[in-house]
Amino acid sequence: MKIAILSRNASLYSTRRLVEAARKRGHHAEIIDHLKCDLIAEQKNPTIYYRGRYLNDFDAVIPRIGASVTFYGSAVVRQFEMMKVFTAVESQALIRSRDKLRSLQILSRAGLGLPKTVFTNYSKDVDHIIEQVGGAPLIIKLLEGTQGLGVVLADNQKAAKSVIEAFNGLKARIIVQEFIKEAKGADIRAFVVDGEVVGAMKRQAKEGEFRSNLHRGGSAEVIKLSRAEKSAAIKAASAMGLGVAGVDMLQSARGPLILEVNSSPGLEGIEKATGVDVAGKIVEYLERNRAKHKKKSQKD
Ligand code: ADP
Ligand code: GLU
Repeated sequence: MKIAILSRNASLYSTRRLVEAARKRGHHAEIIDHLKCDLIAEQKNPTIYYRGRYLNDFDAVIPRIGASVTFYGSAVVRQFEMMKVFTAVESQALIRSRDKLRSLQILSRAGLGLPKTVFTNYSKDVDHIIEQVGGAPLIIKLLEGTQGLGVVLADNQKAAKSVIEAFNGLKARIIVQEFIKEAKGADIRAFVVDGEVVGAMKRQAKEGEFRSNLHRGGSAEVIKLSRAEKSAAIKAASAMGLGVAGVDMLQSARGPLILEVNSSPGLEGIEKATGVDVAGKIVEYLERNRAKHKKKSQKD
């Protein structure tokens, strides 16, 4: 197979591992910088022009699109889809996953457990918002935050009210969320590939911190998921339409609660914590899909 890995940085652990895993299995793998792709649309024959040539002989793509370039990156993925190239993450699912509010709505519709969350168009009735999530302590999140930046724990009613009002005054979009105390500064990352959990880790926030992101100094260790956690992770990836997903959950008294579903989940933390060849699992997913595709076209 000829596999394109859409990535802006060849030296990133995840990118390197995907190239390595593909080559180890006898495939041709190439890193393509999605921001350097020109997309050509005409009546027929959609094509992509990249560094002096047309990309017309790839069998599959693995998108690794950063949140800040979702718009252009997803257009590149969509162009590959139009060229009938299989993608590990579909453009629509990628876009969906980047919209936190839409994601919560989709997860809620799928019947998954979620921390109770309120989103408003800068409502002035801040007391009511606070009441909705069960009062303080509560969590306030900037909608466009990642890696734990823009997540605030407001300890008491007064702090909550003034932080919400401050963000509203800046016209910053936020969500207000019930604080899950029982999670004790930990969360679970389940890595789902093709409807299966291939590895899971528990991330623990460092002392005095409630955010368990590795970027915020959290530490990770392998964990065996309960049946409920496993099925929530699989259901969340499927509801979002993601073939590859990093599902973040909190453990609570009422079972697993989904925090978010990541469409370009990092490989370093999960591979190091679990020892699983996650990059290999992603490449095998592409292989299975190609086999299915071939069978189907032989029948046609
Ligand atoms: P980001 O997308 O920036 O990583 P998250 O929503 O995943 O933001 O939050 C970052 C971390 O903060 C989580 O990994 C978790 O440890 C903690 N956290 C987030 N929401 C809650 C919550 N409602 N209750 C308790 N802890 C939370
Ligand atoms: N993009 C990284 C991931 O999905 C973020 C890791 C983190 O939250 O620390 O794994």
